[in-house]
Amino acid sequence: MQGMTLPDSERWSPRVVVVRGLNPGPFTGPGTNTYLLGTGSERILLDTGAGVDGYLDLLEDALATSCGGARLGDVLVTHTHPDHLGGAPAVLEHFGERRVQKMPWPERDRHVSVGIAEIGDGEMFETDGVRLRAIHTPGHAPDHLCFYLEEERALFTGDLVLGAGTTVIPLDGGDMALYLDSLRRLLDLELDRIYPGHGPYILKPAEKLREYIDHRLERERQILTVVAEGVTTVEQMVERIYTDTPRYLYPAAGQSVRSHLGKLQKEHRASRTLDAGGEEHWSVA
Ligand SMILES: [Zn+2]
Repeated sequence: MQGMTLPDSERWSPRVVVVRGLNPGPFTGPGTNTYLLGTGSERILLDTGAGVDGYLDLLEDALATSCGGARLGDVLVTHTHPDHLGGAPAVLEHFGERRVQKMPWPERDRHVSVGIAEIGDGEMFETDGVRLRAIHTPGHAPDHLCFYLEEERALFTGDLVLGAGTTVIPLDGGDMALYLDSLRRLLDLELDRIYPGHGPYILKPAEKLREYIDHRLERERQILTVVAEGVTTVEQMVERIYTDTPRYLYPAAGQSVRSHLGKLQKEHRASRTLDAGGEEHWSVA
């Protein structure tokens, strides 16, 4: 999705305005989507971008022109990754102290310079025109939350489901089994629309969720196949499987492959040994 350009700010519904984080790149596509939510004199900010120059002006402008001069209210965050939470210190410095709320990830939150208020699974947030329910959806990150917008039967999916490309399941904090479980649980929701953390909005949520699940299960089958054929290292698996992926994304692909292997290991379907040089080798259990 690198190279995709979208407007810096757009109204997506009567109660949803997207403001881009101005941080395009190989892993962020056209940049992080941050959202101003509500219809009244105060708007919730969902995610804060990466703290890129120019974002605060864009946010000010969106409040003034797309939100009728509304004030900035509370800040909600989908997860601790720097392209979602990194802009929070600048937002507070500019707009004044306010609550920044997310599910805790203590090892990571320790390094964040703003105070964090804790969100629990199922917690509700309201402002004029908007009722949001937090849904804990670990897998991409342990603190990952989606937010369900009742008025539109819409889901803000952060990095769990993207508007373009596929999400990385990182070694630090990622878990493929939990990720698949989170996707499957979201299928139980009545959804009309997905507002992702990156890229355009998605109009057929159930189809997209099933596509994401199928894609991961297909990768899992591919990994099991090449391991059964005698491919033992993650690097070789990436070379064999990710033939249509640019090489600069291979390290990220390697993290996802390793997350798959971790899941297969827990399920006793793959096993790992270390050779004399300390290199990992995988085999089918
Ligand atoms: Zn992330």
